[in-house]
Amino acid sequence: MKPSLWLVDNEQGLKLNKHMNKMYNAHRWQPNTTGLTAYPCNWCPRECGVDRSQTAGFCGCPDQIKLARGALHFGEEPCLSGEGGSGTIFFSGCNLRCCFCQNYEISSQGWGREISIGRMAEICLELQSAGAHNINLVTPTPYLQWVLPALERVRPRLHIPVVYNCSGYEKVEVIEVLQPYIDIYLPDLKYYNDELSWRYSRCHGYFATAAVAIQAMVSQCGPPVFNREGILQKGVIIRHLVLPGARQDSIRIMRWLSDNLPRGGFLLSLMSQYTPTFNSSLFKEINRKVTSREYHSVVDEAVRLGLTNGYIQDRSSAASEYTPPFDGEGI
Ligand code: SF4
Repeated sequence: MKPSLWLVDNEQGLKLNKHMNKMYNAHRWQPNTTGLTAYPCNWCPRECGVDRSQTAGFCGCPDQIKLARGALHFGEEPCLSGEGGSGTIFFSGCNLRCCFCQNYEISSQGWGREISIGRMAEICLELQSAGAHNINLVTPTPYLQWVLPALERVRPRLHIPVVYNCSGYEKVEVIEVLQPYIDIYLPDLKYYNDELSWRYSRCHGYFATAAVAIQAMVSQCGPPVFNREGILQKGVIIRHLVLPGARQDSIRIMRWLSDNLPRGGFLLSLMSQYTPTFNSSLFKEINRKVTSREYHSVVDEAVRLGLTNGYIQDRSSAASEYTPPFDGEGI
């Protein structure tokens, strides 16, 4: 029988099988009462049900942590990057794999290197020693069965916030499991319209799922808290990337945020950096940049609604400014 445990220690002298050995190194033995497991995998709303030790699901992830980079990164929102940088750990694979992803080499093409739970813990501490303002986990959801034991292991020595940087397409049960480990959520809220989420990410029901997950994140974290240097210590930043030809979809998202989340309870990061890349050329309507008129019509609506707590981007911003080389640095 496959293990249904996600925090494993062999202090009790238990004989670990192949899968448990991969999870070894955590502090405590704790039964998984959540029902979340990679054997078969149900960690995200896709619920592929595959045995990850044998085959990959939609995300393409193996049953061991696979990273593309773990280094200081200066391309996040100013309250995350600060002057010291965000200690950003890029995981290989993704549960959305958008056709326009600027990180497609890792999200869709699976570039990366497999590492142990122990090495993952070391990387967090190395980034802290290098002066990172936070540990920024980029699309970690498919690996939580192994990431959580790593975070458990470093918790007593980690004195900077941990950021959960994700697609927004998450299960509420996962957000609940993350509560002891995560200080800041950085979800995307990509699409309102189901046709768009299917067309560009092969995902039905994205908005309904992401909306509930984001509400859970905001409720868990409470309003944003900053330190004296203006670096975020706790809270939620909701990112929305305006897509070409989809400004009405963006405006619907602004209205939903205004109607459904507490005023001052989150930060909004409204992004203009869309640049055609990867498979966006397959879709004529998004094979161009967003115009100033499109972007500013969304900004105007956000301002009209009072969503002024957060960030907008300079229209000259290009995706390449925010994408580091995926060369295995820090792994
Ligand atoms: S984490 Fe990956 S394999 Fe698991 S359910 Fe999600 S997409 Fe499928």
